[in-house]
Amino acid sequence: MIPSVLPTYNRAPLAFEKGEGSWLTTTDGARYLDLGAGIAVNALGHANPDLVAALTAQASQLWHVSNLYQIPQQQRLADLLVEHSFADTVFFTNSGTEAAELAIKMVRKYWYEKGQPERIEILTFEGAFHGRSTGAIAAAGSEKMTKGFGLLMPGFRTLPFGDHDALRAALTEKTAAVMLEPIQGEGGIRVLPDACLKGLRDLCDETGALMILDEVQCGVGRTGKLFAHEWAGVTPDIMMVAKGIGGGFPLGAVLATENAASGMVAGTHGSTYGGNPLGCSVGTKVMEIVTDPAFLAEVNRKAAMFRQGLEGLVASHPEVYESVRGTGLILGLKCKATNTDVVKANYAENLLTVPAADNVVRLLPALNIPDADIAEALARLDKAATTLTEANPA
Ligand SMILES: *Cc1c(COP(=O)(O)O)cnc(C)c1O
Repeated sequence: MIPSVLPTYNRAPLAFEKGEGSWLTTTDGARYLDLGAGIAVNALGHANPDLVAALTAQASQLWHVSNLYQIPQQQRLADLLVEHSFADTVFFTNSGTEAAELAIKMVRKYWYEKGQPERIEILTFEGAFHGRSTGAIAAAGSEKMTKGFGLLMPGFRTLPFGDHDALRAALTEKTAAVMLEPIQGEGGIRVLPDACLKGLRDLCDETGALMILDEVQCGVGRTGKLFAHEWAGVTPDIMMVAKGIGGGFPLGAVLATENAASGMVAGTHGSTYGGNPLGCSVGTKVMEIVTDPAFLAEVNRKAAMFRQGLEGLVASHPEVYESVRGTGLILGLKCKATNTDVVKANYAENLLTVPAADNVVRLLPALNIPDADIAEALARLDKAATTLTEANPA
């Protein structure tokens, strides 16, 4: 008999009832140190007092109004995002997938308005993840997500990751856009080198193709800059944001330049809940905290400390781990053992980590994780790796 909850997830046998900072407590009272943060969502930790205050203050005033009316909370958050990014304009969604959908529509409308409606091809990269809608699975193109779902939305071409020649051949005056994550999250914390992002920007400038960056997982302070592309010193035309921006409240956004967004006039897109007062009040508080230079300096300091510890972990457990990947606090441990076994061994130490493709274990702690919790996490990772090695002697 099918379970009452549609069984599309492989869930661990853990149910949490309370969170505080980087710690979660199960329904039977066990405490877990959380290095997953809801997959980079709880960017400021669980039950962050500033976010709780922002949410409850708004909740006692007004939950929802239609986008038929002005929404000052939305205006404030949009102004903050524009002030702190390349963007001139912002549309709010409830998720990363919805942000991907708008990014795709925006590109098509752009070329339609330029008198080139046939210019719809968007180049994407192997290992990409942009969400689970019919459009977003077509964009990522992986068999794992698309198989069995019939005719895919046309207009996407998936290129091998890091193959410059293939990219150069594919990116022409006919290309509508390129769409990519500066750091692939689900794909295994694969960092696109800064030089590649710069080269890609140049190719886009030469051909007129728009650059869409998916910063749903790597954005909002995660890499130690507000947005990951800042490390390369280039800017996109369109950017998708979600996950961390809401700190746990469902919130996403598409940021765009005036040029890229020029086709999106009244009536071309909409959302019932997107940009609702609750989400935008929390998002504004997240942005106020994360855009403080002192906050980002702390993220970088913690990241350097964590990374050094992880390099030591890999060196002490060569039969379990191969290397450390990532930037800032979006980190991956490339495994020699099977990544899901490593995640299970971590569960046994009351430590939450997240598997990713390419046999990687992801570490995405709260950006404000206390130093003591980093030290504790490293001790638990070490213990789990030792147990794993003892259970599987060479
Ligand atoms: C999670 C994720 C998405 C999808 O976001 P949802 O909120 O789950 O719809 C898209 N792109 C990237 C890079 C992601 O990590």
